[in-house]
Amino acid sequence: MRSPRRCSRNGCPRQAVATLTYVYNESTAVVGPLAAFAEPHTYDLCEPHARSLTAPRGWDVVRHEGEFEPPPPTTDDLVALAEAVREAARPVAPRPPEDDHGPAPAAPPTGRRGHLRVIPPTH
Ligand SMILES: [Zn+2]
Repeated sequence: MRSPRRCSRNGCPRQAVATLTYVYNESTAVVGPLAAFAEPHTYDLCEPHARSLTAPRGWDVVRHEGEFEPPPPTTDDLVALAEAVREAARPVAPRPPEDDHGPAPAAPPTGRRGHLRVIPPTH
């Protein structure tokens, strides 16, 4: 089961949307869309960290222009979504009819009974 990839910066809890790749022989840091696979010398970054990345001295930064797309939902997300849709489509169970004419149950003096609300007297 694949878990969502997190930004590789220390203490950053955000989801990674970009991958930083250091191309050592060209002294270039490439910030691109999230790579499908983690490779050596690559670091997943969240959007703020991807946008604010600065290269070490003597390095160039090649930054992906445009929006960083969040990764597609994981299988877990899809299952949760399917269950939510199924839940919403389920018909509401019919409520038993209110019986306002039978013997009065031992109801507290205040509270709801059917659509009527008992208001305690104010003195
Ligand atoms: Zn981050």
